[in-house]
Parts: sequence; structure tokens; C-alpha cells
Amino acid sequence: MVTELLHLDAAHPDQHEIDRAGRILREGGLVAFPTETVYGLGGNALDPEASKKIYAAKGRPSDNPLIIHIADMEHLYPIAAEVPEAAIRLADVWWPGPVTMIFRKKAIVPDETSGGLPTVAVRMPNHPIALALIRAAGGYIAAPSANTSGRPSPTRAEHVMEDLDGRIDMVIDGGEVRIGLESTIVDFTEDVPCILRPGYVNEQKLCEILGEVTIDPAIVSADGMHDRKPRAPGMAYRHYAPKAKLSIVTGDMESVINKINELARRAALEGKTVGIIATDETAAHYTEGHVRDIGSIDSDKEIAQHLFSVLRDFDDDGVDIIYSEAFDTPRMGQAIMNRLLKAAGHSVIEA
Ligand code: AMP
Ligand code: MG
Repeated sequence: MVTELLHLDAAHPDQHEIDRAGRILREGGLVAFPTETVYGLGGNALDPEASKKIYAAKGRPSDNPLIIHIADMEHLYPIAAEVPEAAIRLADVWWPGPVTMIFRKKAIVPDETSGGLPTVAVRMPNHPIALALIRAAGGYIAAPSANTSGRPSPTRAEHVMEDLDGRIDMVIDGGEVRIGLESTIVDFTEDVPCILRPGYVNEQKLCEILGEVTIDPAIVSADGMHDRKPRAPGMAYRHYAPKAKLSIVTGDMESVINKINELARRAALEGKTVGIIATDETAAHYTEGHVRDIGSIDSDKEIAQHLFSVLRDFDDDGVDIIYSEAFDTPRMGQAIMNRLLKAAGHSVIEA
């Protein structure tokens, strides 16, 4: 299959081209597209064959359900059986935006899309290309992140092409995404809303709107959830992993720099190529290896936006081992560290 790479203006996408991409989706094809979080791999969510194609293209386990993307509130009710008032309040503030909500599903949602679960995940993305494409496709696009299963999520169209060229019909290039981490997932099927995956919209912001929220214990357990089964099936899989072994070094800034320099020197003596994930403030202090600057310590926006592409860059560098600083920033820290810890297989070294 030849994959068409279509460049569109993110703010004002050409409607004629959007209609063409929408037609591919209506006819059962696959189109990758930008959202504000990461690039998604889209197929018609109500067509079981399209969902099967998504799993095949990504190499994704079929019990890991897809998020259905909608562009208009009235499209929620045909797929969600019970929509509590709290969810409407959250949608009022954050849709379109980086929040996914879980509801009981209606029969119209194929089991292939929901991974066999009785529930459905729904999001309204905040991106002009995504919203226009969803409408052009008939209202419902199932879209997981547009990476090969296990690799870091794509934040640029080139990442999608790296993983899926030749496997899908089209990739829409709308430039680099704004947020860079996948959506916050909130489950509304129990009495108290529960965070199943941390994201840009953090626990505190959710509490302000919802009053009470809980957080799935599996995603905050220090041992990498070996003893608990996360409620979002995808959180159980190895994910985001670069090819090289990654370890996170924690402690105060000076100790971390010293420790990473020591580890990097030792690795170099053993003939290994070392990668280091550093910040604007620390990068110049490293004396060894490929140092990649993820952004400023004070900007979790920059760190989140660059995390997945930095991990991919190390694959291109062909390093053998990677050491990263920890980025426990106040706003998005939980989401950033959740992804980084997964990428590291929970390998943490105390400085
Ligand atoms: P991705 O779109 O690649 O970020 O993956 C979607 C994430 O949403 C995965 O972690 C899924 O397991 C999770 N998810 C999708 N549908 C559901 C659902 N009905 N219940 C719980 N988690 C879900
Ligand atoms: Mg994913």
C-alpha cells in the first residue's frame, strides 16, 4: 500500500482535502491525523473491519480498546448509555480538549472498537484538522496513538511515517503537536470518577470541577504495577520504550548531575555509547555521551512536548544506554513521570 502524506495548514485546513480524507475513512480506510495531544491513527469507529485494520497496522493487542473521537456533543449520546451530570460539567470546561471519558457503551459500538469491554472511551480533540476530519468521516473516528505498539507516541508526522508508512492510506501532516502526552482518562462508570491515565488535565484541575476523584492505584504504584491490574488495559503494556536501556536518576540537581556523569564515564569505559536526557539548565554540565536537551526545568509544557521525540531521537543515534533526569514538575509532573517510568521499565537510580 502507498501511504499518501498530505500537508495541511493546522489552523485553516483545506476543506476539499479534508473531504477527501473523510471519504477514505467512510470507505473503511485508515488516516493518521494530528490532535493537540499526539498523532492518532483513525478509522471509522462504527465499522468493526476498520477497527481490526487499526490493530493490525499498529501490531496492537486486540484487548486494548480504542478511544472514539467525536466533534459535536450530540454525537455522544448515540454511543454512551449513561452520561452522568459530572461528565457534562467536565465536557463543558474541557471539550474539545485533552480529556477522555469512559461510559457504558451502547450496542452500536462494535466489540472490536471497545476491545470486548462493555464500556466506551470518548474524547473531543481540540484541533481544527481533527474536528474537521471527524465531521467529514461521519462523526466517529476510533483513534489510538499512531505509533507501532510499544514505541513512543508520535508528536510529528515524520514519526508516524517512520512507523506506519506503507501500512495505512494517508498521513495528514499538521505540524508538531501542542501537548505531546496522551489525554487524561477519567472513568465515569463508578460512583466516584476515577483517573485511569494521568495527562495534561491533572488531578487538582479535575477535583475543582468534579469535587471528588479517585486515581487508579495501579498507575501510581511504585513497583510498576506488577501486583495490580490497571483499569485501562493499555496501561498494562510495555510502552514508549526506546531501543536502548533507559534509567531515571533521582535526587537533588547537583547529585543527579554527578551521578549521571559517573555512570556515563563508566559506560563509556565499557565501550558503550551513552545518551543523556537533560534540561536547558543542566545540559552543559554533562561531559560524556549524546546529551539531549528536553527543555527548561521550569516549563513542563516544553518537557511534555519533547519527551517522546527525544526518546525516538535516541533510537536514531543508536545509543546503548540512556540516563534521564526526573521531571517531577508541579502541573504535568505526574503524567510526564508516568510515561518516563514506563519507558524506563521502572528502572530508577537514586543519586
Ligand atoms: P491510546 O489511544 O493509544 O492512547 O490508547 C487508548 C488508551 O485508552 C489505552 O490505554 C486503553 O486501554 C484506554 N481505553 C480505551 N477504552 C477504554 C475503556 N473502555 N476502558 C478503559 N480504558 C480504555
Ligand atoms: Mg498509545
